[in-house]
Amino acid sequence: MKIPAAKIYFPEEDRKELLRQIDEILASGQLTLGKYTKEFEERFAAYVGTKYAIAVNSGTSALEISLRALDVKGHSVIVPTNTFFATPASVIHAGGEVIFADVTENLCIDPESVKKNIRKDTKGIIVVHIGGIVAPQIKEIKEICEDHRLFLIEDAAHAHGSTLDGKKAGSFGDAAAFSFYPTKVMTSGEGGMITTDDEKIYRRALVFRDQGKAGFYGNVHVEMGYNWRMSEIHAAIGLSQFARLEEFIEDRRRIAKVYDEELKKIDKVTPIKIPPNVKSNYYKYVALLDDGIDRADIKKELKEKYSVNLSGEVYELPCHLQPIFKDLYGFKGGEFPVAEDICKRQICLPVFATMTEEQAKYVIDSLREVIK
Ligand SMILES: *Cc1c(COP(=O)(O)O)cnc(C)c1O
Repeated sequence: MKIPAAKIYFPEEDRKELLRQIDEILASGQLTLGKYTKEFEERFAAYVGTKYAIAVNSGTSALEISLRALDVKGHSVIVPTNTFFATPASVIHAGGEVIFADVTENLCIDPESVKKNIRKDTKGIIVVHIGGIVAPQIKEIKEICEDHRLFLIEDAAHAHGSTLDGKKAGSFGDAAAFSFYPTKVMTSGEGGMITTDDEKIYRRALVFRDQGKAGFYGNVHVEMGYNWRMSEIHAAIGLSQFARLEEFIEDRRRIAKVYDEELKKIDKVTPIKIPPNVKSNYYKYVALLDDGIDRADIKKELKEKYSVNLSGEVYELPCHLQPIFKDLYGFKGGEFPVAEDICKRQICLPVFATMTEEQAKYVIDSLREVIK
């Protein structure tokens, strides 16, 4: 049996329908910001439960536009160090300064670390739903934001359809950024979406997305915008995947359940605890290895002996130890002990929409052998 780390899934009937739609789009001449983009935005907002959604060309631009619409220029923003490069990088591109904070055992930013790091010039906090987990401490983070008059942005790139107390990721903060990169739970090829209830953020995001123009047909530039538009073809692909999102999540949860049960029988590997009021979409199934086990060895042996490919970690190295941020802010290691420890010890078991329970059991059997 050969287990890939991930698998992008477009059923044949969806591919056929997409070809028809792409043909229609090309014939229509409306290639960008047209009816497919509009429909994608409306459906996505309704699904997340926000008033507005703005489709853009990546999750990274969704972050940067949100940050620009919240005026971070000349201010600092607190970001968990355990996240993807794009989270802190977007703050810098928007003209802000990054303050890193530590995380807790559930991979979410630590409210205590946030409190310690708030400065006079701090304007907001970004929470990242790592692996698809909307951690309950987001409530505490929201209170901190209210007390200190800070904004809250959710980096929801991992969390399409994840919930906390039945409330969807993307509906907790002032704005949220989703990614439709190919490896995410749903894809549009490339693409992203901002969700918000705030009319002012919505209006400004529309302007930022299209070169800072006051309107689609005018030539008056009122903001430092950029080309962050979504093409109609990408919107059609996104809509096609969006129609399958609940199905994809159900499939992932079925596999996660097998892993939950099977891992109980194995020593030295402990899944991240997800409380019952949190429903992850299982973008990643994250487990921690006991101290002293070499992750690189485990991954190598799983691949070479058993053809099991683990998926990419979230994350292998915390951002403050990435060379670019290490140099920029002078980190040496040891600043954020929980994140550093979790990054070193985590593995992500393969999860994808078409995975079978038999495959999941094979992964665990292989892991058991390798760990011995
Ligand atoms: C993928 C990802 C992004 C960036 O999304 P793109 O669509 O690739 O630009 C941002 N934040 C996190 C946490 C991500 O995983």
